[in-house]
Order: sequence, then structure tokens, then C-alpha cells
Amino acid sequence: MRAVQLTEWGQGPAVADIADPKPTGRELLLDVDAAGLCLSDLHVMGTAAGVFDYPLPQTLGHEVAGTVVEVGGEADPSWIGKEVVVHGIWSCGTCRNCLRGRENYCLGLVRRPDGRLPRIGNGLGHPGGLADQMLVPSESVLVPTDGLEPMLAAPLADAGLTAYHAIRTAAELIDSSTVAVVIGIGGLGHMGIQILRALGAGTIIAIDQRAKARELATELHATAVYPSVDAAADQIRDLRGADTIFDFAGAPPTVEPSTELLGPGGRQVVIGTAGGRATVGKDLGLASGWQIAAPFWGTRADLAAVVQLANDGLLTAETMPFALEDVPEAYAQLHRGEMAGRAVALPKNQRARLSRSRD
Ligand SMILES: [Zn+2]
Ligand SMILES: [Zn+2]
Repeated sequence: MRAVQLTEWGQGPAVADIADPKPTGRELLLDVDAAGLCLSDLHVMGTAAGVFDYPLPQTLGHEVAGTVVEVGGEADPSWIGKEVVVHGIWSCGTCRNCLRGRENYCLGLVRRPDGRLPRIGNGLGHPGGLADQMLVPSESVLVPTDGLEPMLAAPLADAGLTAYHAIRTAAELIDSSTVAVVIGIGGLGHMGIQILRALGAGTIIAIDQRAKARELATELHATAVYPSVDAAADQIRDLRGADTIFDFAGAPPTVEPSTELLGPGGRQVVIGTAGGRATVGKDLGLASGWQIAAPFWGTRADLAAVVQLANDGLLTAETMPFALEDVPEAYAQLHRGEMAGRAVALPKNQRARLSRSRD
């Protein structure tokens, strides 16, 4: 089968022909219907050797929708034929956080004593879904998609799930009188606006320096749209501060100045990893009861909730289809910041290539 693989740390990916996978034990085999490309893949590929404890070659792809086509001897054969999305965190299942249903904070997923980062799941240590087929370790990482279009289902596995989990951590602050700020209206942020709307958030203030992203925020019915935190500050102060700030950029110009815009009891949730730093302390004149959170990805239950929102028509991803052969070029475009919407590879057919050659 074909697979998009990282073969050398610090290099771009290549499409390779590799052996067909075969499920054993509790494993299930998926035909991949759609697989999303993520900025974090660029981060992984660009990292020097010795940081990630991942074997090379590494088949990429941690946002995967597929159809179960075969199961191992110990797996439930009734899964065959089901369309699913894969929860990309293959946690231990036995630690105290896994038992709490907080698989994304599995105690097995921490940095090793030797400083290396452990395998997380498909495309992040284990063979991923930018391929014709992919194995999963058991049914415990699968969520049925109930007929959802695969190209819309795949981005839910990371972009949708990460946004949802971040917002859910502040669920008690979201109601019709909420003042919510969303910073960075890209792959995750544009889903964040929709999720906040679906959960009933009253006022949503969107911030992005890119004009196209601000247009998208307006289309998604953000209450107000600004190019920077500074530009939004007056309105947020007029509203007596923000209840929640979801920072999908996480950059120096967003994290530090946002802290001062929190209202009493407000929470700043930093999702993006662009190097922003916050200085907090009880003697700095910040609002009383401030909280800062830095969530990671999401739980399997969150993924099921995100799929439900999508099936209810409340959440949809802006996507750009690509054929599997064109994925290296799609990553190059992503790297150059040229991608509008989530790039999604469709291994099963050449729809993307055909439609593009017609242009
Ligand atoms: Zn990702
Ligand atoms: Zn665990």
C-alpha cells in the first residue's frame, strides 16, 4: 500500500510503497477514507533526531476517518463495515487518569527520564493514517461517525477535538451572558467559534491579524472581530472583562496582553504553542480568581461529543482535498502558510487531483 512517511528527522515526507498491514489479536484494520494534515506534523518532522522516541520510517497522519475492513482474532467482528474516526491518543487504559476518562492526560504519555517524548498514537509514534490502510490497537480508540462525510469527520479527530476539549474545560463559564474571546481563527479557532455558539455562548469576540481569517469569523457569526488583542481591548473592558479567553495562537503578542483582559473569575485557556508567556501572580493587579489552563488534545468522550455536534449540523470544518501522492506538496503549502482551511488527504480516490486538473 501507499504511505506518506518521514524517513529522516529534519526532512520533508515522501510517499512510499510499504507492506499491507494485517490485524492480529485485538487490532482492527481500517481502509482510510480521509486523513487531515496538521501543523504539529511539521513540528515533528522539523525536530532533530533524539527528541521523539518514534521509529523511522514513521507513517504520518493523526486525524483519521476510515472504514473497518478486517479485525484480529480477539476483536469484535461486528465492527467490520463501520465508518469511524480514530481517537489519536492510544493511552495505557489503566493509570488513574485513564480510569477517570482523562486519556489525554495518561500518566504514560509524559516525557521519559532520558528526555525523549513517548509515542502517543497513530501518526505520532505508531503508523498513521496518511496511507491506504491503518491498524488501530483496539476498538477503544474508535468512535462511529454515523454517516458523517469522511472529509468532515477526519479534522474532528484533532482540530475539532482539541478546540472542544479546551472549551469544555471552561464549561461552567459558558452561557448566554458569556463574554468569550477567541484568538487565532485558523483550523482550530474556526471550530472553536462554532463550538462556543453550539454551547450557547452569548458574546464571542474573535481576533486574528489575517483579513481572510477575520472574514471567516464574521461568516461564523462572531459578535465582533478585531485584528489584534490591543484593538479588541476597549470593547472587552467595556464588557467588564472576558469570562474566557481561548488562545489558539499562543504567541507573545496574544498571551501576555490577554491576561489583563480577564474579568473577575475569568479563565485564560492557551491552546496554541507559538512561544507566548504569561506573567501571573496575586500581586500584579490581575482580576481576582484568574485561572490559566493549558489543555492538551481531548478525551474519547469529547471526540464522541464533537462527532455528535457535526452530525447535528452545528460544526463543520473548512477543508481542502488532496490526493495521497500530493501530500508532500500540501505540507509544503502548509509550511508556507498558504493553506486556507484544513488540508485533508483522500487516499481512496483521486477526487482532489481530478478536480484540480479541471481548474
Ligand atoms: Zn495535530
Ligand atoms: Zn493511562
